[in-house]
Amino acid sequence: MAKRDYYEVLGVSKDASADEVKKAYRKLAIKYHPDKNQGDKSAEEKFKEGTEAYEVLSDAKKKQVYDQYGFAGVEGMTGGQGHDYSTVYRDFEDIFGDFGGIFDSFFGGGGGRRSGHSGRSAQPRGSDLRYNLNIPFKDAVFGTKVQITYNRHIECSPCNGTGAESGGGRKMCPTCGGSGQVRRSSGFFSIASACPTCNGDGYVIENPCKSCRGAGVVQKSQKIKVTIPAGIESGKRINIPGQGNASPNGGLTGDLYVYITVTPHKYFERDGADVYCVIPISMTQASLGSDLMVKTLDDKKAKLKIPAGTQNDKILRLRGEGIPYLHNAGRRGDMYIKIRVNIPVKLSGKAKSLLKELSELEKGSDNPEPIPLSELR
Ligand SMILES: [Zn+2]
Ligand SMILES: [Zn+2]
Repeated sequence: MAKRDYYEVLGVSKDASADEVKKAYRKLAIKYHPDKNQGDKSAEEKFKEGTEAYEVLSDAKKKQVYDQYGFAGVEGMTGGQGHDYSTVYRDFEDIFGDFGGIFDSFFGGGGGRRSGHSGRSAQPRGSDLRYNLNIPFKDAVFGTKVQITYNRHIECSPCNGTGAESGGGRKMCPTCGGSGQVRRSSGFFSIASACPTCNGDGYVIENPCKSCRGAGVVQKSQKIKVTIPAGIESGKRINIPGQGNASPNGGLTGDLYVYITVTPHKYFERDGADVYCVIPISMTQASLGSDLMVKTLDDKKAKLKIPAGTQNDKILRLRGEGIPYLHNAGRRGDMYIKIRVNIPVKLSGKAKSLLKELSELEKGSDNPEPIPLSELR
């Protein structure tokens, strides 16, 4: 198959700027990237073709030779050994920029460049830890302190976190020569990934510490007291800085995140800063009205006035008896009480005859109309 002109492949003119060439290649590479077109031979061909074109047209010297002598000239430059993609490499991050996913898959799953072995100078931070904590409903309402025990990495003390026996030091990694990266060929590309010997650090420990086997950190069980603020809800997390894993390379220690799950209460249900519960009253209390004492969240009693003629499902409010606002515990929501009118079931002889008497006075309709739905809302 005859080779297509490089300018034609990228769809740019002969006097396109370097920037235009790069843009054109970026577009093409994203469209035909093998990861996005798995098993599609023609996409792979297009990708290769575009990459080769970019490799030549992005290099001023090669571009000049190509303009002058065509394919033969460029092939001459590489000594017939096929193409080297060093320019493409250098530009790849630049080209793909925010297309991190594509970039990473291209270089073997984020092993090396993006995830960062700027490593040896700026030490990576220790990892964050997650702890799931269940707390009772009322502890979430009023706040508490909870002691938790968890495992974390701390700096190894015999080696002060260096990972080396005293006197020993670091030496350049023999596998990667200190670069932290190795290249391997995969298909038509050579792929950079983190060096397996040194995990991308670029150095190895000459004489590893016996306590931590060179890791610089050891696992330790730790107890700490976590302060649970009043008003916290399920799903919130409490951040405890510096209580995560120590960095194996002397960087900053990670954080501990305590994720809160609140156990539901037997009587109370929460909605933001308000709390709901259901209180049963008798038919006569509902009809004649009554003063009741109801239990609040604080286990105190509050007076609740049932007005005469209270219907089933009526919601009454006790102001300020709800849940403290998170980080503003002086302010509280309200308590809402839904009334359930109990219809008497087991009647004594006296009660029955009184109700019969009442029923004759009331004369309820034998032929009731439905209640309009609009009145129920
Ligand atoms: Zn290495
Ligand atoms: Zn050690």
